[in-house]
Amino acid sequence: MKSAMKERLLMWVAVPALAAVLVVLAVMQYKWSGQVSAATKAQMESSLQMSLLGFRLDFTRELGAVCLEVKSAADESGAVNPAKMVQQFRHWEQTAAHPGLVAHVYFQQNSRHKELLRLDPGRDQVETVPWPSEFEQMRQRLEEISALSNQPSAIALRERRRRAAGRAPFPDAIPWAVDQSIPAVAYPLRQHHGPGDETQPTAITWIIIQFNTSVIEKEIFPDLAQKYFNGRAGLDYHVAVLERGGVRQRLMYSSSAGFGENNDLPVDASMSLFGPPFRRTPGGPGPEMVVTTVRPPPNERPAQASDDKRNASFDRLVRFEPFRYSSDQGVWDVVVKNQKGSVQAVVSSLRRRNLMVSFGVLVLLAVTMALIVIGAQRASRLARMQLDFVAGVSHEVRTPLAAISSAAENIAHGVVKDQQQLVRYGNSILKQSRQLTHLVEQVLLFAATQQSTRRYEVRPVDLGEVIDAVLESTSGIVSAAGFSVERQIEPGLPPVSADFGALAQCLQNLITNAVKYGGSNRWMRVQASARKEKGIAREITVTVEDRGIGISKKDIKHIFEPFYRSPAVTESQIHGTGLGLPLTRTLVEAMGGQLSAESELGKGSSFTIHLSSAEALVEELRVRAEDRAAAADKASSAAPDYSS
Ligand code: ADP
Repeated sequence: MKSAMKERLLMWVAVPALAAVLVVLAVMQYKWSGQVSAATKAQMESSLQMSLLGFRLDFTRELGAVCLEVKSAADESGAVNPAKMVQQFRHWEQTAAHPGLVAHVYFQQNSRHKELLRLDPGRDQVETVPWPSEFEQMRQRLEEISALSNQPSAIALRERRRRAAGRAPFPDAIPWAVDQSIPAVAYPLRQHHGPGDETQPTAITWIIIQFNTSVIEKEIFPDLAQKYFNGRAGLDYHVAVLERGGVRQRLMYSSSAGFGENNDLPVDASMSLFGPPFRRTPGGPGPEMVVTTVRPPPNERPAQASDDKRNASFDRLVRFEPFRYSSDQGVWDVVVKNQKGSVQAVVSSLRRRNLMVSFGVLVLLAVTMALIVIGAQRASRLARMQLDFVAGVSHEVRTPLAAISSAAENIAHGVVKDQQQLVRYGNSILKQSRQLTHLVEQVLLFAATQQSTRRYEVRPVDLGEVIDAVLESTSGIVSAAGFSVERQIEPGLPPVSADFGALAQCLQNLITNAVKYGGSNRWMRVQASARKEKGIAREITVTVEDRGIGISKKDIKHIFEPFYRSPAVTESQIHGTGLGLPLTRTLVEAMGGQLSAESELGKGSSFTIHLSSAEALVEELRVRAEDRAAAADKASSAAPDYSS
């Protein structure tokens, strides 16, 4: 009783509680994986931005190194010393990672003269050259800036204030102007007239450095892509550098074939290589091209304030600002896209994988829980059945034993006097001991069938003969219970393929049950017929039918389980072991047949054994033999003939 209570507690409290815990875990897992994905995406995006910034910074350093070297060739008055410039350029060439980066270095000593000078490091000299045609747009802009150089700009005013306060000029106050179409950079130097004289007309020295496009595209960009976007198996991202945003769209570098060709393609991130990294103001005024004096060398500089020290680390950084000639002018952008589609796609696939793994674990947990509960229920039902079985068997044994012992006692005590009484007592003892033997045999047989140790000899058997033999052997209990038996055997029934003894055992069990559960109608019918196909009897059925207590729909699902007895029959004190039907089913199936049951509560039941007819078996064997022979014929005709 207590264990039943515990079982119910497990069913109604523990199982729903565990299921609820599983659901809560699943929901938490789902939410948590969402948060993890969002964090992963943010982290990937920020590391992507860092890589892009690194790309841009390294590129700026690469170009900036030569700019700084060349710029330091100017003396304090703003005039370029050609010999020093050659020397500085040589120095740069020796230390540069890509010495071929620079195509030419030009300078215009005085913006009032049109003359352009070109450095020829091979001959340690400077030569006068005409302005190259591709410099035309830039030349005009430089002239405009030179003309405006007398008007102090915001930067010039700031610089003047810094000088007045005795502070060093801001390191990157003057950007190098970039003409991306050439590509070339230009830097203005102005002669120093002393503090506060910015309103005086000034001569400007322009330094112009022209870069080698092929070195940038074929050496620098691939190196930087490798450095910043390389993963465990090659590049993690497709990387491209494009000139875009203007009339001209040009793919300068692409890490993967086809990437960057379609300008509208969605990318994970992009960054401009010159000017502001993220925002672009097409058609704006262009770099604030004021002209300032050349900074004095560090040892001659006035005492610097603390922010100047901080700025000193940026001293080696050069700022580049693109010329903005017009609104339809493109800029150099580096664009990246994850190899697996996009950052979002990578994060989504990670999330899907995480969810699949964690939900898989939860499902496994749920299935394990369900199996444990089902197993526990089965075990407890089996234990209950076994207890019922022990009680049933004990009861079955006790009745004949009591009858035998009382009969034996009467004989022993000399209560039985005459021969006639002795015969009656003897018969009673014989009948009870037979019942006991039958019970023991049934239990043993069941055990044997469960271990599959017994083999059955399936051969053609005359079903009528089996039925008659069983009716004969059960006639005692049938007539004792006052039952009438209808025997209906289809005339000309072909032999059935079965084991005589096993089939008899099955029929005996069904007939005994019909008697036990046949109720007050005390009627049963044993019927045998054949189902024919193309004139050959395929299946032969034998049905034992009664008009007794019947079986409820709930019970009929369980009656073939070992030890199962419907509660109604247990309550009505109808004795049994719950082994008859499972045993019958096992035997029928061992003979290649099937056992089916139909019943209606209060109206009666019918149990049918379905077996193959021996005719069908013979026919099947014949067809198989023919098929085998045909296959053998085919094989021999296909084989080459070596006889000749
Ligand atoms: P037993 O008869 O020893 O209980 P069985 O395995 O033969 O064991 O039958 C299992 C259960 O099936 C019975 O306890 C009974 O509830 C039900 N049953 C079997 N045969 C019939 C029948 N002819 N009419 C009604 N109930 C039946």
